[in-house]
Amino acid sequence: MSSMMTSPAETGPVATKQPPPMAGCAVPAGIDATPLPDAARCGWARRAVGLLQAEAEQAPDTPLLKLDLPALDGIDVYLKDESAHPTGSLKHRVARSLLLFAICNGRIGEGTPVIEASSGSTAVSEAYFARLLGLPFHAVMPRGTSAEKVASIEFHGGRCHFVDGPQAIYAEAAGLASRLGGVYLDQFTYAERATDWRAGNIAEAIFDRMRGERHPVPEWIVMSAGTGGTAATIGRHIRYRGLPTRLCVPDAEHSVFYDSFVRRDAALTSGRGSRIEGIGRPRVEPSFIPEVVDQMIKVPDAASLAAMRVLSRRLGRKVGGSTGTNFFGLCWLAGRMREAGRGGSLVTLICDSGERYRNTYHDDAWMRQAGFDTAGHEAAIEAFLDGGTPL
Ligand SMILES: *Cc1c(COP(=O)(O)O)cnc(C)c1O
Repeated sequence: MSSMMTSPAETGPVATKQPPPMAGCAVPAGIDATPLPDAARCGWARRAVGLLQAEAEQAPDTPLLKLDLPALDGIDVYLKDESAHPTGSLKHRVARSLLLFAICNGRIGEGTPVIEASSGSTAVSEAYFARLLGLPFHAVMPRGTSAEKVASIEFHGGRCHFVDGPQAIYAEAAGLASRLGGVYLDQFTYAERATDWRAGNIAEAIFDRMRGERHPVPEWIVMSAGTGGTAATIGRHIRYRGLPTRLCVPDAEHSVFYDSFVRRDAALTSGRGSRIEGIGRPRVEPSFIPEVVDQMIKVPDAASLAAMRVLSRRLGRKVGGSTGTNFFGLCWLAGRMREAGRGGSLVTLICDSGERYRNTYHDDAWMRQAGFDTAGHEAAIEAFLDGGTPL
């Protein structure tokens, strides 16, 4: 033990009344001190942070699209197109933030292996950033993750490890990180805190871009939850700016977020993985912050995939399944607004492109085999968009 350290038991209550030693006081010889970290490590971290910041500054912001829906007169619908990121999904933002967070926390240095548990999209974006920084990258994913995502991770130089069951990814990723002497980025824990909710985030971009619109302050922002991080950022930013906008989180069928929200129980788990890639979890993820969510909706998977198909037709290009969940939630809320005779704007996200699901959600034979019948839901959504009949 150091000669400078004394416990209260040794000094007694009287000693605590004495003023603490001041700078400039005589210091006893024999001070313990750790060696300084090596300068090369600090230099690497500085360069890495510079590369990540430059990447963020060079990339143009993603577009905010307005859907043309004359039948919904008085209600305007906007889509923030996150598929426009260089790595094709909203996970581009969180991947950059998670790496920046780990580097600034001093956990990653030159050559540190980076490991993640993912349903795919996060790993694609992290593989891209790991390569930018020259770091080895490993993704741990459930078997059955779409082949397109696996190909993208490998394209960016990442390695894929597969496990059985959605619950197995966390422990396997942590184990792999310790075996490799690497860092488990753990998006499910850190997504909400690695992102700055005050500025420079997706919520700020939406509100700033909406300023010139007919209804500049949205009635609703609709965002489903995977880690829950994006919803947390949006919900916090709404409060930070003192806006009346509300946040709705539509949940997938096989997911515990909705029930945990209703029962205020963060310990719920489920053995079954979500069928909507990117959203819906078998446990209540630490990045899901229910206190900033105003309303949740449980969306049947067939309705999500119906909304995905309808929206893909309207846009003339394919969107992913979670975008369908978002869009179904938005249409449901817009229907409630119509019933109440209210106008206003609603905003949701295109989370990723449907090209990643060309051989699954966008393949009729695959859909039939998986037992999805979307026809009824598609007709109902079309009837709402073209005739204003609420869902
Ligand atoms: C991660 C993800 C989401 C959900 O975003 P979170 O911020 O993790 O809640 C939605 N859609 C897709 C395709 C995703 O990859």
